[in-house]
Amino acid sequence: MAPLKETNMPNPNPYWWDDFTPFKNQPETLPVECDVVVVGAGLTGCSAALTLAKAGVKVVIFDTERPGFGASTRNGGMVGGGYRLSPEEMDARFGFETSQRLLVEANIDSLAFASKRIVDENIDCDFNVYGRFRGLWNKADYDDTARALDKLRKRVPVRIDMVPKEQQRREIGTDFYSGGMLIHDHGGLHPAKYLNGMLAAAQRAGAQVFGETPVEKITKSGGDFVVTTSKGNIKTESVLVATNGYTPRNFSKLKRRIIPLSSFLIATEELPRDLVDEIMPTKRMYVETRLRHCYYRLSPDNKRFIIGGRAAMSNVLSGNTSKVLHGLMSEIFPQLSHAKITHSWSGQTGFTFSFLPNIGQIDGIWHALGYSGSGNAMAPYLGHKAALLMMGNKAGETAFTKTNMETRPWYRKTPWFLPFAHQLYRLNDRMEDRKRAK
Ligand SMILES: Cc1cc2nc3c(=O)[nH]c(=O)nc-3n(C[C@H](O)[C@H](O)[C@H](O)COP(=O)(O)OP(=O)(O)OC[C@H]3O[C@@H](n4cnc5c(N)ncnc54)[C@H](O)[C@@H]3O)c2cc1C
Repeated sequence: MAPLKETNMPNPNPYWWDDFTPFKNQPETLPVECDVVVVGAGLTGCSAALTLAKAGVKVVIFDTERPGFGASTRNGGMVGGGYRLSPEEMDARFGFETSQRLLVEANIDSLAFASKRIVDENIDCDFNVYGRFRGLWNKADYDDTARALDKLRKRVPVRIDMVPKEQQRREIGTDFYSGGMLIHDHGGLHPAKYLNGMLAAAQRAGAQVFGETPVEKITKSGGDFVVTTSKGNIKTESVLVATNGYTPRNFSKLKRRIIPLSSFLIATEELPRDLVDEIMPTKRMYVETRLRHCYYRLSPDNKRFIIGGRAAMSNVLSGNTSKVLHGLMSEIFPQLSHAKITHSWSGQTGFTFSFLPNIGQIDGIWHALGYSGSGNAMAPYLGHKAALLMMGNKAGETAFTKTNMETRPWYRKTPWFLPFAHQLYRLNDRMEDRKRAK
């Protein structure tokens, strides 16, 4: 907070990092060999390592930065399920049976798994089932959402209710939306504490973790692999790549299948209690259906307002993001227009062309990634599933091995198209603004 006082500039680190415990217990020397190398110490990598180590597998995790540097400690801390594709779109792409399994895993199983792992591993991360309110942009959105919900209910036992516009003040202190949808089982947590806990659990189970040790190359050697890191080589039977939106250029086949999209967040100074109660009477997690995809919540101590969204399409375009988010916040809650921003940060999500994550192997190297914007439930779930599959355990079966990791001829390793997409989205935002019922 010191720089804030001196320069009045928001802290560029995530608000969550105020509670990010220093990384401990890095071994002094690199082992010569192990059973599994995990690349990336985020939620996916740590959860996979935990499952592997608990089964007696000798596992070593590497991260280019300090463990948890990626999206896992930068995100909004909302825990939920579901993907942007409708059941019909899933059916058309994958067939009914796979689509049904994807829906159940995305909406129910992943959330149940993450909640159980938090309890089983005693992870102290301010986890609570707050419920999630999704603000609907206009009347047409409300009607479409209600119809889609009826269909989803026939396929998956979700606890979701529509909230008509006349009743939305019960949930949120604004008339900005045309009603909403209340997803009762979704939760929220403190992302840095969550990652700290997952990492510590993996270490307790026996995983060795090396921070500031990028994996530079993975080479096949007979039936094994040699993993080249900045600290030397390690021989291993299998490798799991868990780098999602931070997948580097040298992992070229994966890089061509993952689009890194930046997401931006701000946190305000501490707010007066009556203001907090006015804007968020039920203290839920909040998202919306418009393309800007704002998501917001209170800090776990209920004192600060935290909002994220698509303020730009990439870090290159991020100059003004704090201002953009402040504007969006004030538009939803004019009561917050004078609130000071104390933290303003960003992180990289990893999108696939199918908008769904995937577990698979390319050239014998396993991957679990492509969460396409969410992941607090799905990343630990798929990390666990990938670990089971690597051990040949049938319990690892998941429909997420059937999703696609396609690429496009025009996407090599650089997302050159993001500035154009940004302009297109801005145009769509303006059109969407006009469609909002006042
Ligand atoms: C701003 C933002 C807000 C979000 N909000 C939410 C939310 O509210 N709810 C939700 O469910 N999801 C949210 N998400 C998505 C969620 O955070 C991610 O899907 C999830 O954290 C992915 O976890 P991961 O372990 O796969 O990847 P990450 O946590 O990104 O970890 C990847 C790691 O790989 C490391 N790495 C990369 N290359 C190498 C290499 N060569 N060698 C070694 N290490 C390497 C990186 O340093 C990084 O630490 C958000 C994401 C962002 C960015």
